Amino acid sequence: MVAIDGPAGAGKSTIAKRVAARLGFTYIDSGAMYRAVALWALRQKVDTGDMHRMEQLAMAAEIELSPGRIRLNGEDVTDAIRTPEVSGGASKVAVIPGVRRALVAKQRAMGERSSVVMEGRDIGTVVFPDADVKVFLDADPRERVRRRLEDVRAAGEEIPESALAAQMKERDQRDSTRADAPLAQAPDAAYLDSTSLTAEEVEEAILKIVRSRVTNGKDFS
Ligand code: C5P
Repeated sequence: MVAIDGPAGAGKSTIAKRVAARLGFTYIDSGAMYRAVALWALRQKVDTGDMHRMEQLAMAAEIELSPGRIRLNGEDVTDAIRTPEVSGGASKVAVIPGVRRALVAKQRAMGERSSVVMEGRDIGTVVFPDADVKVFLDADPRERVRRRLEDVRAAGEEIPESALAAQMKERDQRDSTRADAPLAQAPDAAYLDSTSLTAEEVEEAILKIVRSRVTNGKDFS
């Protein structure tokens, strides 16, 4: 079990996918689950401030993750969850303890079914506090905005850099200051600053940590 946490744009998805492929583990994007719940709420026009209704929605959501795709109640929502509106909505619903409870239960069930590399904000601190390997992946805020801008452009969209930077700042602020499971580095997590590293270098650094765990004679799965 490998847990990778960090702020938006630090490279978690890219790295978690690569590490999972190298280890033959299942890659799980926990943020996509918060996004799926936010998308459903937006579509149903549920007030995200209605905590009880939001918890019910999160419990009822049928979320299936398969390589590169996410389905919500049977519908492929892979692209629909990547809009700026859903990004903001996800960090708003992620503040609600009942929503977190429902999604953490689903995440733990996924982690029990197979060996996983799971990325998010609270994987090493709350979801899997006993994970074999924990990484807190960070990067300079300007570099994180630059990377996210690249993703947005690759998807054929345009957003002014200043607007994207403001959105990311607001989201990171909300994620780091919420009372329940805020974005934080677990005390036993390795801190990795990816600002001036290539994806290959970050991947190698994590695999090195994995190998050191294995050679220490610890059971790793
Ligand atoms: O990782 P991603 O940016 O797709 O996550 C979207 C939002 O979901 C985050 O901004 C955060 O509010 C929430 N999230 C969370 N805990 C996780 C993963 C994501 O609160 N483990």
